[in-house]
Amino acid sequence: MSHFRELFESTTFSFEFFPPKTEAGAQKLFDHIVKLEKLRPSFVSVTYGAGGSTRQLTRDLVHRVRAETGINTVPHLTCVKHSESDIRGIVEGYAQRGIQSILALRGDPPHNEPHCFGDDRFSNAGELVRFIRKIEDEQRQLNGFKGFGIGVAGFPEGHPSTPNRITEMEYLKAKIDAGADYIITQMFFDNRDLYDFRDRCEMAGIRVPIIAGVMPIQSISGMKRMSELALGMRFPAPLLRMVRRTDGSDEAIRRVGVHWATEQSRDLLDHRVSGIHFYTLNSSGATMEIYKTLGVQDSQQLGSEPTLPF
Ligand SMILES: Cc1cc2nc3c(=O)[nH]c(=O)nc-3n(C[C@H](O)[C@H](O)[C@H](O)COP(=O)(O)OP(=O)(O)OC[C@H]3O[C@@H](n4cnc5c(N)ncnc54)[C@H](O)[C@@H]3O)c2cc1C
Repeated sequence: MSHFRELFESTTFSFEFFPPKTEAGAQKLFDHIVKLEKLRPSFVSVTYGAGGSTRQLTRDLVHRVRAETGINTVPHLTCVKHSESDIRGIVEGYAQRGIQSILALRGDPPHNEPHCFGDDRFSNAGELVRFIRKIEDEQRQLNGFKGFGIGVAGFPEGHPSTPNRITEMEYLKAKIDAGADYIITQMFFDNRDLYDFRDRCEMAGIRVPIIAGVMPIQSISGMKRMSELALGMRFPAPLLRMVRRTDGSDEAIRRVGVHWATEQSRDLLDHRVSGIHFYTLNSSGATMEIYKTLGVQDSQQLGSEPTLPF
């Protein structure tokens, strides 16, 4: 099997999941993953609960997906509330179990829990990236480990905890200089935000692949929840107008969401993005419909270079 980093030689298509808390939930998710496997994703990623709350669940899901499907699996890892030995244990475990990539994040503390980031051993994602690279070197010498492809987060619309957008770009560059190989973006609903972000990255000397985060909306309550979780993200007026025209039922909003995300994906591909990361909300339906509406069977077909059809 080629190394994770080689995936970026072509357009990547990836799916994100979060670890369910119960065995029944895990089995249900796994059924969706098996369906999504047919779309031949470049990789799938598994989130890490706020403050490490899903530490074991994330690890279990990552290893299960990898063992049972063979899909490249990328664990998210956050440094909030973790000591150096916590992080070392997790990263060494991944290296020893053949995981080839980690998405390195600062993370957020659990809701309603007072937290001082200055007390954490690693206070931003750049420091975490540097530490993962250190462990990688040790593992390379110990057992010939081939190394990690390290991803970091990017925010096309900006992140509220960094109000200065020039400083934000400097911090993003610092994460890349610390050793990150690729960026996955926060979800966004207006592609112009992504193209502008990509141009600003290029001007800042950031030359790594930028993978665009796309989320098909599924319900009005889900939209409200997302705006609390995906800080800085906004729903543009044309999308809100589409939502407003419906009867508000989950089925109608789901259709709007799939339509919008399909159009976004088509336009992103036309603008030659490095990759698209679908936020699946642990369900296979919307992502499969997007592929179907785009008329393709799998990611390989979706990423192929189009030529004249006649
Ligand atoms: C694709 C994606 C996946 C995500 N997955 C998860 C997940 O699984 N679990 C989870 O809890 N959260 C997740 N998040 C959310 C993310 O953890 C939060 O948005 C968090 O607030 C910021 O994380 P970061 O890695 O971007 O932080 P950083 O880039 O470290 O930034 C955090 C803060 O530190 C400051 N900073 C950064 N670099 C420096 C520097 N060099 N010097 C001084 N200050 C600096 C920034 O201004 C900012 O205020 C995800 C976000 C994205 C986009």
